[in-house]
Amino acid sequence: LMFDGVPMFEDDDSYRGMLFLLQDVTDIRRLERMRSEFVANVSHELKTPIAAVKGFAETLLAGGVKDEETTRSFLQIIYDEGDRLNRLIGDILELSKIESKRIPLEYAPVQIKDLIDNIYEVLLPAAKKKSIVMTHDIPEHLFIEGDEDRLQQIFMNLLSNAISYTQEGGRVRVDAEIINEGGEEEQIRFTVSDTGIGIPKKDLPRIFERFYRVDKARSRSSGGTGLGLSIVKHLVELHHGTIRVESRVGEGSSFILELPLMHPFEN
Ligand code: ADP
Repeated sequence: LMFDGVPMFEDDDSYRGMLFLLQDVTDIRRLERMRSEFVANVSHELKTPIAAVKGFAETLLAGGVKDEETTRSFLQIIYDEGDRLNRLIGDILELSKIESKRIPLEYAPVQIKDLIDNIYEVLLPAAKKKSIVMTHDIPEHLFIEGDEDRLQQIFMNLLSNAISYTQEGGRVRVDAEIINEGGEEEQIRFTVSDTGIGIPKKDLPRIFERFYRVDKARSRSSGGTGLGLSIVKHLVELHHGTIRVESRVGEGSSFILELPLMHPFEN
């Protein structure tokens, strides 16, 4: 608790009393702590790829590596780590923009089936590589009032995770249903599910935290930054929606997303 006292006077300068401002600083302290933890995490995450780039470049510069194959593999590592740094910085900037609400959302009716169809097209090669079958069951005329690019980002993140964390020959799907139909607050519930590796019960509550990963090595090798789900959560909340996850190790995961529904313009 913080106190701040200011004496108050009447118009004729006679003393009227003290004005106290009481402010609960618990929240401010908590935010400060979260911010400094974030900065520490960011530095750590950036240092790892930078160390790799420097280390492998140094080795090459020292001239000890003679054969072409090793040289190429070192260069590939330098390239990949550079790529990773790029993605990390992009995600960090994105998250900080979203968190400080510095992104203006452009609301318009968005047709969901088209949106998912487009994302499927983009992700098809990645899914094919692992023989993963992607399907969806979304009614034609469902609209959401939202920012199309951001909605796309939400589903892109969830679906690329679903592919990354599912083994060869698995399945990924999106289902949509209207809940609370005819009620005051009609919503659309999306379920993005996979038959992948699943998430251990103890990790479930933390999965939307920044930089939280169940398996750091696996996330790194799949190109993950550990920021995808926290960006998703923020974007869902900006759309007045909710997101949660259900999962079983070895069976798969479902991300359940509820967003306010919009009625299509009837003509
Ligand atoms: P990352 O870039 O590591 O994928 P995310 O924020 O997108 O970061 O996800 C955080 C962690 O949640 C991942 O590292 C992974 O451990 C877990 N995860 C996310 N999606 C899935 C999924 N569909 N199946 C299993 N684990 C998942």
